[in-house]
Amino acid sequence: MRFFSFGDQGERIAVLVSDSEAVELTGLLPGGFTGQLSPMRRMIERYESLVPEIAAKAVSDDRIKIDGLSLAPPVPDPSKVIAAPVNYVDHMEEMSQDSHIDSLGVFLKAPSSVLAAGGVVGLPYTDRRFDQEGELALVIGRRARNVAVADALHFIFGYTCLLDITMRGGEDRSTRKSFDTFTPMGPYLVTADEVGDLGSLELKCTVSGDLRQKVMIDDLIWGVPELVAYASSVMTLLPGDVITTGTPKGVGPLQDGDSVTVEISRVGSLSVHVSADGAGLSPTKGANRGPVPPPAKERG
Ligand code: MN
Repeated sequence: MRFFSFGDQGERIAVLVSDSEAVELTGLLPGGFTGQLSPMRRMIERYESLVPEIAAKAVSDDRIKIDGLSLAPPVPDPSKVIAAPVNYVDHMEEMSQDSHIDSLGVFLKAPSSVLAAGGVVGLPYTDRRFDQEGELALVIGRRARNVAVADALHFIFGYTCLLDITMRGGEDRSTRKSFDTFTPMGPYLVTADEVGDLGSLELKCTVSGDLRQKVMIDDLIWGVPELVAYASSVMTLLPGDVITTGTPKGVGPLQDGDSVTVEISRVGSLSVHVSADGAGLSPTKGANRGPVPPPAKERG
C-alpha cells in the first residue's frame, strides 16, 4: 500500500486506491495532532491491528482526488532522521575519500529539515555550494534496539524517496545537512511488501532535466538490513524514524530556479524546486575545507 500525509502539518493521512485517488484514514486515529504524534506515526505504531479497517476503508466510495491536495512529508515528525555518510564506492571516489560507512558510522539530520514533495528547497547562502543527493530512505515500523541483521527487515514499515540536500565544506555534517527544507521526502510511503526485492530497485536523480545520478540499490556498501541493525545498536529506533541509505556518484551544485527529481522503481518520484530567495553570506568559514566534491559540470 501507498500512504501519504497531507494538510499544513501533515494532520491528515490517506491511502492511495489508484494513481489519482485516495481514501482518507485520519478518522481511524481519533484525537488531534497538537501535542501528539502525527497521524502517520500513530498509524505506523498500530498498523497490524488497523489493517482490516484500512482494507475496509480502501474499498469504500469515499474517494478523494489527489490533485490539488497539499502534500506533507509522509512522516512529518520523525523522532530522528539517520543518514549514511558514504555508502556507495563510486561516491567515495568522486569525493576523493578513502573511508566509507564501515569506519564513519551514521550521522543525524535535524527532523525539522523535512520537506514535502513539490516543496521549495531554500538555499541559505550565496557564497557556498549546495548539492543534491538522491537517496532511498526507509521508515521504521517497530521499536528496535540491538536488532540482528537477519531480523532487520521485520522492523521496516516501508520506503520513500529522499533528497539529502548538502552544503559542501568543513562544517559538521549535522550542520551542513540540517537547514530547514534540506530533507525532501515522499511523495508516498510505500509498504515494504509492495516494494519487494530491494536489490532490483534503480534510483535516478535529475536536476533541471540533466540526469546526474543512476544506480542500482544493490550497489550499497552497507545494505538496508546492515544499516538498520547498526543504527539500532547505537540508538533505539522508533516507529516513523527515517533512515536514508546514502547517495551514489553524480552529486553536483544546485542553483536558484533548479528543479530536482529523484525517482526509484516501485517507490515513486519526488520533485522539488530550489530557491535562493533571501540568501545571505555564510557566517561560518568552512567553504574550502572538508571532503572535496567533484567539479561542477558546465550547464547546457
Ligand atoms: Mn547523503
